Formats: sequence, C-alpha cells, structure tokens
Amino acid sequence: TPDVRPLVAGNWKMNGTRASLDQIKAIAAGVQGDLADKVDSLLCPPATLLYVATALSTDSPLEIGAQDCHQNASGAHTGDISAEMIADCYGTYVIVGHSERRTDHAETDHLVRAKAEAAIQADLTAVVCIGETADERKSGQTLDILKRQLAGSVPDDATPERIVIAYEPVWAIGTGVTPTTADVAEAHAFLRAELVKRFGEGGKLMRILYGGSVKPSNAKELMGVANVDGALVGGASLKAEDFLAIYRAY
Ligand code: PEP
Repeated sequence: TPDVRPLVAGNWKMNGTRASLDQIKAIAAGVQGDLADKVDSLLCPPATLLYVATALSTDSPLEIGAQDCHQNASGAHTGDISAEMIADCYGTYVIVGHSERRTDHAETDHLVRAKAEAAIQADLTAVVCIGETADERKSGQTLDILKRQLAGSVPDDATPERIVIAYEPVWAIGTGVTPTTADVAEAHAFLRAELVKRFGEGGKLMRILYGGSVKPSNAKELMGVANVDGALVGGASLKAEDFLAIYRAY
C-alpha cells in the first residue's frame, strides 16, 4: 500500500530456548542497513526470552514483541502475562487472537478485542490475527468470517500506529499450502475496504500482513500482492537465515 511501511514479523510460537539466542542476534544484526529505512521488522519469541531478546536488539531496528497478553493489567491470573509486563521488558508489540490461541484457548473475538485494547493502553502495538478455516473457505464463507472477525476483534480506538491486522487463513498455517495470489488479493482488498469504512483515513494506512506458510521461496510473490503490507511468519522465522531472506524479499 502506498505510504505504508511494510512489516516483516516472526512468530516463534512455543519454540526457543537460550540455545536460540544466536538466531535472535543474527536477526537483529541482519535487519540493519539500507532496507531498515523502508521495512520494519519484528520478532515475537516466547515470553521466557522476551527480556533477553530486547537486550540483544537494543542497537538494532528489530522490534521485539510477545505472542499474547491478558486483557487485564494485573491480578489473579496465574500463568498469564499482561501488556504492561511486555512493555516493561521493552517489548513494543504483541500478537493477539492468533488462530492457535483461538483454538487452544477458545479465545473469542470479544476477548481478542479486549486484549488489543489492553495492548494499546500499555502503548504496545497489537497484531490482531484473523482468518478462515478450510471448511469456511470451502463453503464460501471466507469474506463473511473475515468481516465478523475484523469487526469483533479490532478496537474502536485502533490507529495505524497501534493496530496491525494479520490475515492468516487457518488452513495455510504450518501446512506449506498457500492461497493463490488472487485469493490473497481478494481477502486483503476486502479487509482494506472494511477498515476504510470503519476508520476512514486511518484505515487506508493500517498495515495488513499476510500469514500462512510464508517462505523465502514465495515471499516476493506474496508481498507483491496489492494491500499486502508485510508478512507474519511462523516456521520460517526460527532460522535467522530464512527470516532474513523473507525480509530481504522487499
Ligand atoms: C503463524 O503462526 O503465524 C504462521 C503464519 O505460521 P507458518 O508461517 O509456520 O505457517
């Protein structure tokens, strides 16, 4: 999208230990240079590595984020982390509503919206994930689902600085299968129109990432689709070499 800085984001999911810190160092080093003037980069390691990851990237344009946050600022929620805790670790982003959270933890649009609101309250940027399942696509419901998830998961105070949308067809996540570029174009154009309807000028500038089996070999093609403002990368973000190859597709 013209006037929008693309974002290439990595989601490590439940992967990564201290042994992976070399990969974070390599990513932090690799995103420096001319391209950093044009393309933003983000890595979301597991929460256990958040603080050390921000320490390793202080001299790099690489942003560090978390993969989820609780909707409340603090309190009796054993095992959860708050948006404030992420900010306290110098994290600047948080993914909310990833399909694995929606499935594994029965997260609803309503809850995802509350999490995104908590992120904004803590001055984080929330990457709000939406996407249809294989059955929903087969039965022709894709755009209806996207419309409902977008309306339900994105807060009213969303701005292009504080909210990033990630379109991730559930059937494309971790499968090696990607939609055709025509299908990606259709979904992203639809999301853009919905965002403009709701947020006006802000909707024109909000980043819409594509996610689902992005690899070095398909990144250029997918990133070249209209209204695709970057990528959310799972598996291929675990190896610095692959993540950087995707980043350099720009
Ligand atoms: C993801 O989990 O956000 C994702 C897109 O995973 P993968 O790239 O492995 O399909």
